[in-house]
Amino acid sequence: MPGRIIACFLLLMAGANGQTQLHYERVVEGKIRERFEMVHPEMEERYRRLKAMFENAGCTGDRLSEQPVRREKYPNLVCVLPGETEEEYLVGAHFDYFRGEGALDNWSGASLLPSLYESLAKTQRKHTFRFVAFTAEEKGLVGSRFYAERVKKGTLPRPKAMINLDCLGLGQPNLWFSGGDLALNNRIHSLAVKLQIKLSLVDIGRVGTTDSESFRKIGVPAATVHSVTQETLNIINSDNDTREKLKFGDYYDTYRLLALTLASLDVLPVTFPAAGK
Ligand SMILES: [Zn+2]
Repeated sequence: MPGRIIACFLLLMAGANGQTQLHYERVVEGKIRERFEMVHPEMEERYRRLKAMFENAGCTGDRLSEQPVRREKYPNLVCVLPGETEEEYLVGAHFDYFRGEGALDNWSGASLLPSLYESLAKTQRKHTFRFVAFTAEEKGLVGSRFYAERVKKGTLPRPKAMINLDCLGLGQPNLWFSGGDLALNNRIHSLAVKLQIKLSLVDIGRVGTTDSESFRKIGVPAATVHSVTQETLNIINSDNDTREKLKFGDYYDTYRLLALTLASLDVLPVTFPAAGK
């Protein structure tokens, strides 16, 4: 793409065998903003644009597929970055919405998926990363439940963990602490400290639910990054959910934190409690 400059980001982190390099290609601010600004109120257009953005990010051919979901007009959109092994991480964000433009909830999350793919894709990764834009979250986690049921049946690979993005950019990133796996939360938190990004622990369990729950239900460790606070709660699921509400600096910080988190999960695996459910 003309004018696209991707800077390389490198961080050294202490691992079991000394220093480990965490590396990703940083997508520039203009591109992240442009993808967010592609938000559209019509679902048809929303879906079409998201697909085009994945393709623009290099997720083409058999890397990009649709997963039709029973009784839903729009499928889950799945972009896979194959790794050296079939062990995989899943990154999810719903692309449907309820009110306003659905800009913060959750175009902010869905439109970041292509950029996260792009951030990892230039380097051969050990793990496979699967980026899934989920349909019909607002109707009751329909798309993610459909996906998770197939994981449970064994017709789709079981991810080592799921990272869920919902409602980003209202402010600094938050972790849904009680709705996430402790080891995964700790990893994200320690990377935020390294990047000097303020990451707060804000529970959203009393005000709603989100796609990570579909995975936790089948025993897949998950974490949810969001940005909702008491002060911004009124924007979500209201006509105020428009693109002007985005705090771009915080949104870009959230992108940097997520890209680094994925790069770290690839080379410094998290030890999860034994899955049992
Ligand atoms: Zn949402």
